[in-house]
Amino acid sequence: MFAHIPPYAGDPILSLNEAFQKDPREGKVNLSIGIYFDEDGKIPALASVRAAEKLVVEKAAARPYLPMEGAANFRSAVQNLLFGADHPAVRAGRIATIQGVGSSGGLKVAADFLHAHFPTSKVFLSNPTWDNHRAVFEGSGIETTTYPYYKDGALDFDGMLEVLDKAPARSVVLLHACCHNPTGVDLNRGQWQRLAQLLNERELLPFLDLAYQGYGDGLDEDLFAVKTLLDAGGPFLLANSFSKNMSLYGERGGALSVVCPDAAQADKVLGQLKFMIRRNYSNPPTHGGQVVATVLNTPELYAQWKDEVAAMRTRILAMRSALHEVLSTKVPGRNFDYFLSQRGMFSYTGLSPEQVDALKNEHAVYLVRSGRMCVAGLNRRNVEVVAGAMAAVLR
Ligand code: PMP
Repeated sequence: MFAHIPPYAGDPILSLNEAFQKDPREGKVNLSIGIYFDEDGKIPALASVRAAEKLVVEKAAARPYLPMEGAANFRSAVQNLLFGADHPAVRAGRIATIQGVGSSGGLKVAADFLHAHFPTSKVFLSNPTWDNHRAVFEGSGIETTTYPYYKDGALDFDGMLEVLDKAPARSVVLLHACCHNPTGVDLNRGQWQRLAQLLNERELLPFLDLAYQGYGDGLDEDLFAVKTLLDAGGPFLLANSFSKNMSLYGERGGALSVVCPDAAQADKVLGQLKFMIRRNYSNPPTHGGQVVATVLNTPELYAQWKDEVAAMRTRILAMRSALHEVLSTKVPGRNFDYFLSQRGMFSYTGLSPEQVDALKNEHAVYLVRSGRMCVAGLNRRNVEVVAGAMAAVLR
């Protein structure tokens, strides 16, 4: 019956993670997967999140099915966080927000929605982008294509505008709101404003992916792209995640919001999102969403969370500086300033696939073959070793 089923090639990043777990070498370093590790190399359980979880558990509330669109307190908290409680778009009820199953779930619901209601639209993805973007959209039957994003170690803004300027109206343009995965290279504020103008003029539909809020310049600062599109006044989609900033990966905290021209359209969009959810997973799980909502809706916990996010961000920045310093000393004549200017968990190191293989085989340092490094896997104990190994393969 199943003999014709081909084997699954596996996900390159998750497979690398499995290979790392099996590697017996002491001192091995995993810089492949997009997870924040603390100074001790552990995934932190944030104090704000633990306190919220205690409150949720103490309530010992019944666990009925949630509505298809998720819990009301989660959805309003997400809108307040991302758009601001007092923003006219929020007050007017013209944003449709659903609680997803992680932001991957939000992306998938959006992909099904776009396929059904924008059947001739293509999705434009940055080149490069998170591998799963293509898989999710194509899995829903949507054609994808790319726009230039990264050239010679920097943002190719002109190339990006040139291609998007020619994109057919109603094309969907997927953009990383901050901390671009995999390059770590973001648009600056002026570039976001220029891009927002072009998207409006060309009647393109922006889709922001905000998976790393707080890891760039701050929880509020990292909303610049969101605020810019909101101010530009056009419709857009936004998938956001609490996996990284609340260190809640397995709880699948995330949402999808669709900013609409008016409340009547938002209502219809929400209805269609519910339809997509009903025939997929029916409704989201309760626990993770209630933990997220409790952090966001309790002022003391929110303040504590903000500090904890700042500490994670600052630690990554310190690792960027340390790596830059050691590498600049060990490989004189090569400019490593990109480690300082890139933002978020990831850096494109500029290492070739062969150099990445050598790092793994000879030094037990794991990166993705594209040369992407998860800087959040570095700490004071391994940063010198990693920099030394990188210097060795670069020489
Ligand atoms: N978008 C991007 C760019 C990501 O890097 C990730 C996680 N690696 C996600 C979305 C999905 O995050 P999650 O499903 O855990 O919320």
